[in-house]
Amino acid sequence: MRRGFLNKDASAKHKVTTVPSPAVEPSVAVTKPAASLAAKSYNVPTVEAFPEKGSVKVPSPKSIVIPHTGGNECTTEELYLKMSRGVVKRTITCLPPNTMETGCLFFTGVKERLLARPSWPSPVPKAAQNCYRIDGSSLGGLGVFAARNIKMGELIIVERPLLTIPEDMCIEPGKSLEQLVQEVLMQMPPDRAAQFRALDDCRRNGGGFVKDPMVGILNTNSFGVDILPGDLDMFYCAVFNLTSRLNHSCSPNVYGSWNVQSFSYSVRARRDISAGEELTNSYLHRSSLFFPCAQRAELLERYNFKCKCPSCTDVGPGHRPRQSDTNRKLLMFNRIRLTEQEEKVHREFQKMIDDPKREGEKQKQENDALHLLDLLEQERLVDDVICAFQYSFLCKLALVAKDENKARKWALKAADVGRLLQVRTAAGQK
Ligand SMILES: [Zn+2]
Repeated sequence: MRRGFLNKDASAKHKVTTVPSPAVEPSVAVTKPAASLAAKSYNVPTVEAFPEKGSVKVPSPKSIVIPHTGGNECTTEELYLKMSRGVVKRTITCLPPNTMETGCLFFTGVKERLLARPSWPSPVPKAAQNCYRIDGSSLGGLGVFAARNIKMGELIIVERPLLTIPEDMCIEPGKSLEQLVQEVLMQMPPDRAAQFRALDDCRRNGGGFVKDPMVGILNTNSFGVDILPGDLDMFYCAVFNLTSRLNHSCSPNVYGSWNVQSFSYSVRARRDISAGEELTNSYLHRSSLFFPCAQRAELLERYNFKCKCPSCTDVGPGHRPRQSDTNRKLLMFNRIRLTEQEEKVHREFQKMIDDPKREGEKQKQENDALHLLDLLEQERLVDDVICAFQYSFLCKLALVAKDENKARKWALKAADVGRLLQVRTAAGQK
């Protein structure tokens, strides 16, 4: 089992560079490790691998805002200097104060800001009962499985992190990241520290000695979360007891989102899941899921495993990965068009729908929309960008044609995807 997204050691931090927000994800700045993995076969901007993170915003390390220094932005180099001079300090604490569930390594000021939030933390939302079990997985190691049929959008897991640490905390001079993580673990309740230590280190395959074992666990199991979204421009790594155990698939059936008010991470069903099916997350950025199989494998190498999902293996008739690559390529271009030119596309489609002389064109666009949705189905992907647009387009077409049943069908599907979007957006804004 390998989860999370980090695979950068302390020295790599200084090599981190930023790239402009990729066209496919305009709102997300992406940190790019030294080993650039450009989109080789597709003529699209380079997109780095990050997990499907829901509310995560990946800040540029060149614009880190340190609140207790007056909120001034500083570069990583400046931050390093400030830390070496003692202007910026770190603090180790356990939160929330009543349960101490999460070992936190923060810049000073962050804890105070959290505690100053009204009614913080709110209780952790209740997940559905008895809907998962942990068992051996064909994807490797242990996995989390649906213990019953799970409906799209159902809340499966909610948990507070075992440990959180800023991505740039390891630049502190004179201390290794391993030492810092060990210090946090020492302050955590023993059972929570033990849960952290029991997680996998993807370098440990075959056993034997590994250097910096706690950093290995952190790198293998971390998710990116905005500890204080919209307040601090600081990206945190968070490790979870259960969520970190979800295996990867290029056709994930769950997604996660961070909620600062309850200080918890929620995992929901991305689509209907059958009893016995393994719950899978994506360790790749959601736009990277549309990359060809070989390129996804390259991105996943950092986790030291080969993806065995149907899109990456010769499962089913024909050369499945090749067919899957073709499908995903078409989906990706559609997604880019919708993301980059959302308003324009909406305007053009609405004009066409309203024009009674363009019936032939409408038919063609309807067929194209159905084809794209069919490709998503073949790939077992639920993509909110494509689905939200195509469902709403098909619904409008059905309304113009006065086909109420069809319109209702597409409206209900649009509402399902809308709920996913709502959860994601709401979590990101809180
Ligand atoms: Zn795969």
